[in-house]
Amino acid sequence: MNAPTKQHLIDPEICIRCHACEEACPIGAITHNDDNVVVDMDICKHCMNCIGPCPTGAIDSWRVVDQPYSIDEQFEWMELPEQKELAAVVKSASELDEAVQSLLNDAHKGAGGVTKSPASAATPSVNLYTINNPVTARVQGNFRLTADAADSDVRHIVIELADLAFPVLEGQSIGVIPPGLDGAGKPFLPRLYSISSPRDGERPNTNNFALTVKREEHGICSNHICELDRDDEITLIGPFGSTFLIPDDVAANIIMICTGTGSAPFRAFTMQRQRTTPSIQNKLMLFFGARTADSLPYFGPLGKVPEVFLKKNFCLSRDPESPKRYVQDGLMEERDALAPLLTQPSTHIYVCGLKAMEEGVEEAFAEICKSVGVDWQETRSAMRSDGRYHVETY
Ligand code: FAD
Repeated sequence: MNAPTKQHLIDPEICIRCHACEEACPIGAITHNDDNVVVDMDICKHCMNCIGPCPTGAIDSWRVVDQPYSIDEQFEWMELPEQKELAAVVKSASELDEAVQSLLNDAHKGAGGVTKSPASAATPSVNLYTINNPVTARVQGNFRLTADAADSDVRHIVIELADLAFPVLEGQSIGVIPPGLDGAGKPFLPRLYSISSPRDGERPNTNNFALTVKREEHGICSNHICELDRDDEITLIGPFGSTFLIPDDVAANIIMICTGTGSAPFRAFTMQRQRTTPSIQNKLMLFFGARTADSLPYFGPLGKVPEVFLKKNFCLSRDPESPKRYVQDGLMEERDALAPLLTQPSTHIYVCGLKAMEEGVEEAFAEICKSVGVDWQETRSAMRSDGRYHVETY
């Protein structure tokens, strides 16, 4: 029996045979006869370029299969076959994939349950690689971001993708499968990590991406990643996440609030803006909470980004030189700048990092809104339904 795999198909009942997908496919994986338009599994690399142009959604059809359908079989179809019952191993694997999805849903709860991407965001690729279909990539670099003396060990990990098709957008996450088996003899559940580089790689047009990983005491996966050396293999699934995305609208005001490794997506957002619109001014704000400057990932590089491009507010809770400050204190200090932004339809808020930060952030926004006679709950709900308020906490 073949290993189960996810097969990209076209629903013949919905397809209007406009061939937009065929034109969009960069590698000729889509073909047709007089009856049907079909995807050749041997060629398709799941790049998803064909999904957007399809006017009916027929192209966005998938089946997990033990034995892929040939193109001759697909030419004969009047309708899509039902999902077949698969071997038990597939069932447990799809349960694992669901578990990964529920980790992500849980992380986005603070955004109100129903999350939506910004209207102008690019369309992400999701779930290209799953538990049954993971990929192996190699580590290109592993650099410690926090000072040796700092109480946390946070690493900048660069993953080389070589010729792998693994398209990611800033704000998405990937899953890492730790090697080995758990106490019950089962493979470990994958852990999610945010992408911390822009969509076109650490340097423009390099097929790699970066992660920002904190070593957790006794943590299975974070220790595995933090110990990896250059050229070591790493097993990945994903990408995941289709809402915590940066708007493509350059006029957007982007307010980013994070603690610790929650800075990962904001490094990606900032670099993406630096690459695409280096001359924008006064559009990005960052509120970054950490215990000390030594334990704040990317403290050095962030300091070099001009204030007019990225207004930074570092909130240190254990700095021996200054009073305790948390992200909510930073927000309150900037209340005069934030109050008018909160009611502008071009403002997007992103909160990322420890779950514990949410309450303080909520209180600060409620207070800022109250001071100018605006209701924060209403403002936040309008922003959520517009895809402009995003939370990813874990
Ligand atoms: P686990 O093995 O899962 O253990 C979890 C905790 O339990 C550990 O901290 C440890 O203290 C405790 N523990 C485990 N075993 C023992 C033991 N034997 N004795 C005592 N204590 C024990 N993390 C990042 O670093 N960077 C990111 O960008 C990032 N992005 C994320 C994005 C999302 C959407 C989500 C949901 C999570 C993200 N995380 C991120 C968190 C990450 O997925 C992991 O949860 C984290 O790395 C811990 O995993 P682990 O396998 O090391 O720890």
